[in-house]
Amino acid sequence: MYGFFHLSPSPFSLQPSACLFHLSPVTFHLFIMIIPIFLPHLGCIDRCIYCNQGYITNVLDDDIRSTIKHSLKVNKDAFEIGLYGGNMFNVDPSLLRTLFNYFEPYKERIANFRISTKPVPLKEETSWILRANNVSVIELGMPTFNNDILKELNRQHTVDEFLTTFHALKNEGFSVAIQVMVGLPEESWSDVITTANNIVQLNPFYIRIYPLVVIADTPLETMYNNGVFVPIPFDEALDRAVFIYLTALKHNVKTVKIGLTDNEIIKDKVVAGHYHPAFGYLVRSQAFYLGVKTLIDKHALKGDVIVHLNNRDIPHLIGQRRVNIERFQKAGITITWQKEDIDEGNFIIQSSLSRVSGNIFNALSELAQNT
Ligand code: SF4
Repeated sequence: MYGFFHLSPSPFSLQPSACLFHLSPVTFHLFIMIIPIFLPHLGCIDRCIYCNQGYITNVLDDDIRSTIKHSLKVNKDAFEIGLYGGNMFNVDPSLLRTLFNYFEPYKERIANFRISTKPVPLKEETSWILRANNVSVIELGMPTFNNDILKELNRQHTVDEFLTTFHALKNEGFSVAIQVMVGLPEESWSDVITTANNIVQLNPFYIRIYPLVVIADTPLETMYNNGVFVPIPFDEALDRAVFIYLTALKHNVKTVKIGLTDNEIIKDKVVAGHYHPAFGYLVRSQAFYLGVKTLIDKHALKGDVIVHLNNRDIPHLIGQRRVNIERFQKAGITITWQKEDIDEGNFIIQSSLSRVSGNIFNALSELAQNT
């Protein structure tokens, strides 16, 4: 499957999921396994320009049943089911009931369901079926909060419609998460800030951040080939993702996923854009680099500098293939590090002249200069 929005199956989903630390204790258990079941384009009438799967109008057949059977072979007492890959809100209610009926034989072991979907159409009957079938988390795809860009993406919904759905679902007791994107056509820094601000205001259950990838046989590919769409530079996509990630984190909104993993995309089908198997790590590493750099610049430090940090942040300080260390070196700063009993994301910078403390959120002021 090359379409990547509303998509989440990853190798990690079959492992105890770290994101479950952030889930409601009422409906979730720590370390519960999420089993992803992918329903390609189920309910998708309109095709988003970056998604390339052909329309599948009748997927509730033996294939789905065998997928379910195959996926649920796991030897676990309890697990959660994630239904991904389409627009669940647009699935005919009777088909939706049929789909959930397929899970009946496994009912005793299914702790709950989570789904991903477009935010429209919001139907009372659909939400009733979801509630009745123990769906507790709904992930809404909302690439941007700019109506013009939504239109260009052929999303067929507006910001207001998304907001109506978001609040309605929350009021009905669902835990509502949001999937956002960076690097979209015509996207400016102001759009990125608007996305981040909306996340803060809405306080979703969690977010996922996806950089836009140009996939073969999509309208976006045509736009790319015609020069109508030119992807932003990779570093720029990284910075935009860092901004959203840090803004959310600062306001206690967890990001459970950044970028696509190998299992979520057929690499041969990536024509352009920002696919990187370690995009999430690159974002966290860039956040750490910018945080440290901001403090170093502020105090005009040069020469030998020791960064005291949490053990887990050492790879973030170093960067992929030591890129961060080299960037500092080019600026006349030789970085070494020492493990410290300090929270992740925090650090102390020690030079011959001073000892100052900071954290990754310092990066936000550096990024704000892009606006
Ligand atoms: S709603 Fe759009 S992005 Fe999501 S699966 Fe359908 S076509 Fe793809």
